[in-house]
Amino acid sequence: MTKPKLNNSCSQPGIIYGPVRSRRLGLSLGINLLPSQYKLCSFNCIYCQYSWVKKSPLVPANQLKILPKPDDVGDALEAALLRMSRAGETADSITICGNGEPTLYPNLGEVIDQVKRHRDRYLPQARLAIFSNSSTVGNETVRDSLQRLDLRIMKFDAGSEEMFCQLNHAITPIYMGEIVAGLKELKDTYLESLFLQGRVNNADPDSVGVWVEKLREIQPLGVQIYTLDREPPEERIEKVSLSTLQWIADQVRWRTGLPAEVV
Ligand code: SF4
Repeated sequence: MTKPKLNNSCSQPGIIYGPVRSRRLGLSLGINLLPSQYKLCSFNCIYCQYSWVKKSPLVPANQLKILPKPDDVGDALEAALLRMSRAGETADSITICGNGEPTLYPNLGEVIDQVKRHRDRYLPQARLAIFSNSSTVGNETVRDSLQRLDLRIMKFDAGSEEMFCQLNHAITPIYMGEIVAGLKELKDTYLESLFLQGRVNNADPDSVGVWVEKLREIQPLGVQIYTLDREPPEERIEKVSLSTLQWIADQVRWRTGLPAEVV
């Protein structure tokens, strides 16, 4: 398998990184459960900051075996929290994110146990958050794990199977319908949606219209809307304007009553 090389400015070299300033989570201490040298993801989004590859890589089982053990994650987090405490530093959140899709990690529930234990002891005011691409939300065990966190921010870029294929390029067969069904089951969840234009355009009125209809079904707590913030690896796509993002947020508010913000 050709391992997708990480963009160096994005790679997380170890299990714990930061704290980093996040637009959405304040000062956030990051946890990367995935490999440090390459992306491990169930999607191959055309706008991926960790590099887009023309041919989607597989996620072989032997890659999952080299991931850190839950105890390793717990030890690394405790060491980071102790270091911060001694230095008088703090954080608003502890966020499971990193080099790909964190719910591919096979022992997510055990990791969450460890993270909660150390959070409660060293940084009880910090919210526990996760960014997920939603590819595994159809799985009840994954949903149960996600539900134990304080904040879930789940990717949802497309309102049709066709747009989902064009944007997110799922590596294993995943249908958007399964994702919608899983997101409907997940309580108190925020969605994040990236809009772009060019070779693929999910910001035109028709695409936005079908996406809004799916939001009405899912009923998230809110929707965070954004566009590319750096040069995409695929040359024929580009960011949309701030006024387009604001128009999309208005569509969400007017047609569903859900909160929507441009981030
Ligand atoms: S889900 Fe995230 S990490 Fe995975 S391909 Fe898409 S943008 Fe990249």
